[in-house]
Amino acid sequence: MILKCLLNCRPTSSWKHSKIFKILPRNLLTSEKQKEFPTRCDILIVGGGVIGSSVAYHLKEKVGDKLSIVLVEADDTYRAASSALSMGCIRQQFTVPENIYLSRYGMEFLEKSHHLLKVPGLDPTDVQFHPRGFLMLASEASRGQLLENFKIQIDAGAKVELLSTEAEIKSRFPWMNTEGITAGVIGTANEGWFDPWSLLMGLRQKALSLGTHYIRGEFTGITIKENTTTTNLNIACLNLKRDKEDVLHEIEFATLVLATGHQSGKIGKLAGIGKGKGILSLPIPVEPRKRFVYCVHVPNGPGRDCPIFCDNTGAHFRPEATPNIYLCIKAPTQEEEPHTCNLNVDYEYFEKEIWPRLAKRIPSFENLKLRQAWAGFYDYNTFDQNAILGRHPALKNIVLATGFSGHGIQHAPGAGRAVMEYILYGRYLTINLERFGFERIINEKPLYEKNIL
Ligand SMILES: Cc1cc2nc3c(=O)[nH]c(=O)nc-3n(C[C@H](O)[C@H](O)[C@H](O)COP(=O)(O)OP(=O)(O)OC[C@H]3O[C@@H](n4cnc5c(N)ncnc54)[C@H](O)[C@@H]3O)c2cc1C
Repeated sequence: MILKCLLNCRPTSSWKHSKIFKILPRNLLTSEKQKEFPTRCDILIVGGGVIGSSVAYHLKEKVGDKLSIVLVEADDTYRAASSALSMGCIRQQFTVPENIYLSRYGMEFLEKSHHLLKVPGLDPTDVQFHPRGFLMLASEASRGQLLENFKIQIDAGAKVELLSTEAEIKSRFPWMNTEGITAGVIGTANEGWFDPWSLLMGLRQKALSLGTHYIRGEFTGITIKENTTTTNLNIACLNLKRDKEDVLHEIEFATLVLATGHQSGKIGKLAGIGKGKGILSLPIPVEPRKRFVYCVHVPNGPGRDCPIFCDNTGAHFRPEATPNIYLCIKAPTQEEEPHTCNLNVDYEYFEKEIWPRLAKRIPSFENLKLRQAWAGFYDYNTFDQNAILGRHPALKNIVLATGFSGHGIQHAPGAGRAVMEYILYGRYLTINLERFGFERIINEKPLYEKNIL
């Protein structure tokens, strides 16, 4: 049934080389060379972070050996991958209903991950989930937006509670200075944080165990070869660096999933997106945006009932499992955006822009000690800060899964399932994510997510 759907799915564009969703001949997938360095595959996933690995897992879990899947990942250490540097929070408090639904599936997945990601012979994955509600605060100026967001969340079935007066907030959180705060929304279920690395490794290990072929190497481009035995081949070029030597390798594929996180704008160009004419002149609008995470010790901090705290000034933090330890972050303004040529931390930013805001709101933060800090890149969609999912309208054998703009860890399970459905059935079956398609960029119709942290 699934394979029939795959074969029936034909491109509608005039892009003459598209042979999308075609299964490649089985007999070519079994040679010894193929096992070591596959030269053909049905699905080639570029990028093995949490999104690429979730796509691989969901596809393999559904069809097993019926599809050959190769995943190429440039850096097995994930040194600069967002997935490894994330804060690992999950929330329902979004303003686009699809994001709320994605988080809900994310929660369901995390709750069952122990079982879903179990690999015989290995310890079960423990994503170390800590349930904790987000508290979003508003001033008089932002109260209207908060109330609007709350309504969207309630309509989408989120478990959130409105705290509509300053006094109500003060009585719930006596350790807070509520001056200037007029309303708040707190999540009462399905929110918290988990260990992103454990989720990444769990998905990767499970996808591997189900038969995904992970290759360490760098995707460097696509070429089209014509007049060969299989006409109009799509060939991806990979650089499989071995002992610092470049080893170039070609692999034929039927469908390519582009899941390269913050590098997606650049990698898209290697695949021809943003380098051609017409639709192809539009690049994938995803670029790295540097964010700093500061880990602080507050000896007399808010205590065990502390929510994941989002001040109306944009500074926010979450508690760690160890008492009195907090991870703090704040999105910079456009003018403050740091350069992205390395992952060095700006300590001054904490002193000037974050600490004063938090200390004003929570007096005990005056006494904090900065323990450590790190930087990571958001996979920032400059167009509307939402994911870009689905087939590229001109290159129909390329499926995009990128641009999560700081909420990709929690949406990885849902995005993986969505891409699986899209590839196998040609449409979304569970959460309709059509609005996340690249078409909105062509049509200049942004779908803004207002609750970006
Ligand atoms: C500081 C910080 C805090 C965050 N906090 C949260 C949070 O609390 N909650 C949340 O939901 N999200 C959060 N995020 C966002 C989240 O981490 C990302 O949205 C998510 O990890 C994106 O996953 P990804 O797989 O798309 O990208 P990545 O994890 O970056 O993976 C992409 C992979 O592609 C590989 N790649 C790139 N180019 C090539 C190539 N040419 N060939 C082969 N491979 C290639 C890279 O090596 C990389 O491993 C945070 C991010 C940061 C930086």
